[in-house]
Amino acid sequence: MTKLPAFKESFSALIAAPTVSSINPAHDQSNRPAVDLLANWFSDLGFNIELVPVDSAADKVNLVASLGAGGGGLALSGHTDTVPFTETAWRQDPFKLTEKDGRFYGLGVSDMKCFFPIVMAALQSLDLKKIKRPIILLATCDEESTMAGAKALVDAGRSLGRHALIGEPTGLQPVNMHKGVMIETISLGGRAGHSSDPSLGNNAMEGMHVVITALRAWRARLQEEFSNDQFKVPTPTLNFGSIHGGDSPNRICADCELKIDLRLLPGMHVHEIRNRLRQTVTQAIAGSGLQLQFDEVLPGMAAMATDPCSEIVKVAEELTGHSTGAVNFGTEGPYLNSLGMDTVILGPGDIEQAHQANEYIEQARIQPMQDILKKMISHFCM
Ligand SMILES: [Zn+2]
Repeated sequence: MTKLPAFKESFSALIAAPTVSSINPAHDQSNRPAVDLLANWFSDLGFNIELVPVDSAADKVNLVASLGAGGGGLALSGHTDTVPFTETAWRQDPFKLTEKDGRFYGLGVSDMKCFFPIVMAALQSLDLKKIKRPIILLATCDEESTMAGAKALVDAGRSLGRHALIGEPTGLQPVNMHKGVMIETISLGGRAGHSSDPSLGNNAMEGMHVVITALRAWRARLQEEFSNDQFKVPTPTLNFGSIHGGDSPNRICADCELKIDLRLLPGMHVHEIRNRLRQTVTQAIAGSGLQLQFDEVLPGMAAMATDPCSEIVKVAEELTGHSTGAVNFGTEGPYLNSLGMDTVILGPGDIEQAHQANEYIEQARIQPMQDILKKMISHFCM
């Protein structure tokens, strides 16, 4: 067995491994540099290592590392990718783990590369010969872009443990719920003509007015149908975020484009809501002669709700001293839940730091997270 690197050494190596993921191919990178490090380290810890290809062309993989066999068990899950960065906005090298003022700086320190060396430290502090139920380390790709890694886990449909913890930045507070999100573009194509005679064209802007009216009524119906008081905004939302159309007051508007953002509650399924949205719009402009086109701006992300009475939520509440709550960002949690795992989001970073230049994590968060993980593993696997 090779000697495992110390915490700071493994953390530095992960930060130095570039793993940006982006829906813009110009920024998108493989996550192999981080996964290969983790595969070596977890192999040295005695884990069985599997690299599962997700997108061969872009060299994206998930790592599934497991120790112990049988039912039950605990999955510790994190994504290996980071968002793109603007070099000039950083005061230090984003790929060099930098210690300053009681903090670690670097791209992805908080969201969420710190999680992996903390897991390793927790494992090293335990007698792994006493494992009775499996510990599974999941390290995914593309969480920041398309969720392709988590979707691949769901498509494989394989059981990966009964309980899961995702170390996304929650400031050491357990989270069991978040909303889902979808963004859609609606485009209408009509016909231009001189403004003096409406019969010369077909006005796309007036068509969009009809669409917006129909969507506002549909939103009101959705908000009656779905509501959850555990969220600060207890209903689903539909925001009219951007509209562009026409080019001149004295020409009939030929094209109009609207972009909307919907935030979905647990129980609302992205594909089902997208179908209902498209039906509503299609019916609203039926017979108008306008060309209608829909585009998904981002693949939709599911809402998450783990049973507040589930064992992992109860244990997380006890270990942190905080009751579980909801957050305003999405995670891979709903995908793990759909694989039959009760999933809690609990990690040492702060979401305010995620996706920011000069991202940092407070060093004081490391040891408490390590203690939580140690107790979690003992509880569920020993
Ligand atoms: Zn994240």
